[in-house]
Amino acid sequence: MRFGCLGSGSKGNAWLVQAGDTRVMIDCGFGPRQAGNRLARLGLEASDIDAILVTHEHGDHGRGVAQVAARARCSVWMSRGTRDMLEAQGCVPQSPRIHEDGVKFSIGDLEITPYAVPHDAREPTHFVFSDGARRFGLLTDAGHVTPSMEKALSGCDALVLECNHDIARLDAGSYPYALKQRIRGRLGHLDNAAAAALLRKIAGGSLKHVVAAHLSLQNNAPELARAALAGALGCAHDWIGVADQETGLDWREL
Ligand SMILES: [Zn+2]
Ligand SMILES: [Zn+2]
Repeated sequence: MRFGCLGSGSKGNAWLVQAGDTRVMIDCGFGPRQAGNRLARLGLEASDIDAILVTHEHGDHGRGVAQVAARARCSVWMSRGTRDMLEAQGCVPQSPRIHEDGVKFSIGDLEITPYAVPHDAREPTHFVFSDGARRFGLLTDAGHVTPSMEKALSGCDALVLECNHDIARLDAGSYPYALKQRIRGRLGHLDNAAAAALLRKIAGGSLKHVVAAHLSLQNNAPELARAALAGALGCAHDWIGVADQETGLDWREL
């Protein structure tokens, strides 16, 4: 199994997971041309994708899904709430498949477990992937950590965790008060310290990759996210990966 990223942050998100010949994209906040260019960096084109999973309806995750899915001629999975909201926005893909919180399903060689997260969207979910031998957990866009999230993400071999902001930077920054409150609220985004506290709880002996994701360009910096997550594990800062808005993340093998 391997995973990679086309780009991560409030301007657009898309992740890839592959097991055997099965390739699944998670979210697509990029239009078809951008997505194509970014896929090429990972050696792929749209037609290589077997399915797209959508975490929630926000534009940075759902914007390009319908068009890229049409190009890839692939199935698209999402929660009922995400489908309703994308429908209301006029950008739902054709015949989306519906997944339920905690109910496993398979796409080719990948087994996928959706789990619910608290975020200011209708029915946001994130995912844990397994190829039968290893597990990869993905978490972005969550305002706080719930016990069921901890359970879903425990014992993974690779983790991507949202490190949206550094609290002090957000506080001192130029964002309007209401936006600051939204970001740091219970339905907003995880800060570096919250991600580190989660990592401390769920990290097991098999952990091979930890990647910080969805970093705010204004309210965070890669070295702050790295330091927070490395502090939780007691590892070297450069062992922690960071998924970048422009360059994403190169393939990582499990
Ligand atoms: Zn987002
Ligand atoms: Zn969001």
